Amino acid sequence: MHSIRRAEQRSQPRSLPGSIADLRAALLGRVIAPEDPDYESARLVFNAAVDRRPALVIRPADSADVSLVVSLARTDGVELAVRGGGHSQAGHGTSDGGLVLDMSNLRGLHIDPARRVAWAQAGLTAGQYTAEAARHGLATGFGDTGSVGIAGLTLGGGIGWLVRKHGLTIDDLLAAELVTADGERLHVDSERHPDLFWALRGGGGNFGVVTRLQYRLHEVDTILGGVLVLPAAPGILRSFVAAADAAPDDLSTIAILAPAPPLPFVPSEHHGRQALIVRLLYAGDPACGDQALAPLRALARPLADAITPMPYQQMYAADGSPGRVRMATRSMFLDDLDEHGEKAIFDRMQAQPSPMSATQIRVLGGAMARVPNAATAFGHRDRRIMLTFGAAYQDPGQAAIHEAWVTDSLVAMRPAAHGVHVSFIGNEGPARVHEAYPEDTYDRLAAIKRRYDPTNLFRVNQNIVPDGDVAAHPRASELRRGLPGAGSD
Ligand SMILES: Cc1cc2nc3c(=O)[nH]c(=O)nc-3n(C[C@H](O)[C@H](O)[C@H](O)COP(=O)(O)OP(=O)(O)OC[C@H]3O[C@@H](n4cnc5c(N)ncnc54)[C@H](O)[C@@H]3O)c2cc1C
Repeated sequence: MHSIRRAEQRSQPRSLPGSIADLRAALLGRVIAPEDPDYESARLVFNAAVDRRPALVIRPADSADVSLVVSLARTDGVELAVRGGGHSQAGHGTSDGGLVLDMSNLRGLHIDPARRVAWAQAGLTAGQYTAEAARHGLATGFGDTGSVGIAGLTLGGGIGWLVRKHGLTIDDLLAAELVTADGERLHVDSERHPDLFWALRGGGGNFGVVTRLQYRLHEVDTILGGVLVLPAAPGILRSFVAAADAAPDDLSTIAILAPAPPLPFVPSEHHGRQALIVRLLYAGDPACGDQALAPLRALARPLADAITPMPYQQMYAADGSPGRVRMATRSMFLDDLDEHGEKAIFDRMQAQPSPMSATQIRVLGGAMARVPNAATAFGHRDRRIMLTFGAAYQDPGQAAIHEAWVTDSLVAMRPAAHGVHVSFIGNEGPARVHEAYPEDTYDRLAAIKRRYDPTNLFRVNQNIVPDGDVAAHPRASELRRGLPGAGSD
């Protein structure tokens, strides 16, 4: 009966449900409780190291459902976690004892190919959106992995395969619809609630539950993509950074220093030996592709060269469905990679606790860096390199070893490390959240948070603390003294 409620009825305020049965009756969407058969799968997120048991997982069917759940959490004082694709390293898409608002059933996508804009519901993944847009020869740039949710990725900024050509994902965000902490449904763009629109572009899930996002689309069809495997000889990291930095904006790269995988195109004598695995995408004029790639191919004789023309969406198909994995990561931005920094990375890889440890290097710049830092809440656009140490592992008893390896790796890179991408932070404490933002950006975010979420209802995230009390919440410079390896400045 409730499923046929008319739209105008649903826009009226309703009384909050007092029991699970009332809640089920009040919502169009699903409520999954611990006794339900799919509760075990519904409570899980991508990082298998996170094992939490929410009171309920709620899959809303529309923004009225979202508004009701937000009001319920606020009124009852229950912890509220918001989940898109569930890929938060910190496990922010789930909760112990709270409500999980799992947006995964909201997957509507409307593409207007003539205007090159799309309205996407917040439960879509990057791979789902990209496959649909590809039917029109169009794309919006997301990250490197298809199973990541578009909402979580976009709210953090979004660094992906088109970052040098078209900028961050937020540079293609035109508008958003969200439910605020008081349950109000807002449309935000550069003219309506511009402060909120600024904050959403990099400030994470701190300001409300996003239900729809409007993106600009670009013509992206056949690209040159794939993998170049290079020997991990001394100097290779620095020369890779120089070549990727000097490349045309059409070329974006993600390099991984790790043992070479036992793939058919990698000669077997190199399997398991340290290599620089360069994943890349060239989205320019196909006639100029070989010329653009030549400097990378000239860095060393490639152990394998599997770069080929392919449809853009195949960059996501390649990662398939990676499944859940236990992960420890530490990430940072660098302005440069000198001899000392390169040696530190090689030394850390020597100390790697498992063959599934890796160092990822992304050379940024291009369109991302042409937008001023203060234009959006993503305030580290001028950083040249993003460096991430990651350890994937299976045995939960080994968690401390892997956490220590990534933490020590971050320490080894200081003081060259300046800032961090908010989407790449784990459970690392408030000082690291401050590190994700220049100080004035953080202050501006906190002021907007005070306005839209003064009680910090949306706190299961990389949290912007609304309280302006500096004594209670020390400023970034004070907090940073407590960071691993930061010393006292
Ligand atoms: C394998 C892997 C690859 C990745 N690659 C990239 C990459 O190439 N580039 C990049 O920029 N990032 C990348 N990331 C990081 C990723 O962008 C962030 O972890 C992002 O937060 C994940 O979004 P999600 O919706 O999947 O995660 P979730 O865990 O579901 O959500 C993460 C947080 O986002 C917020 N959020 C999600 N949905 C909503 C919503 N509808 N409304 C309000 N808040 C919401 C909430 O605060 C939530 O806690 C990667 C992560 C993984 C695990």
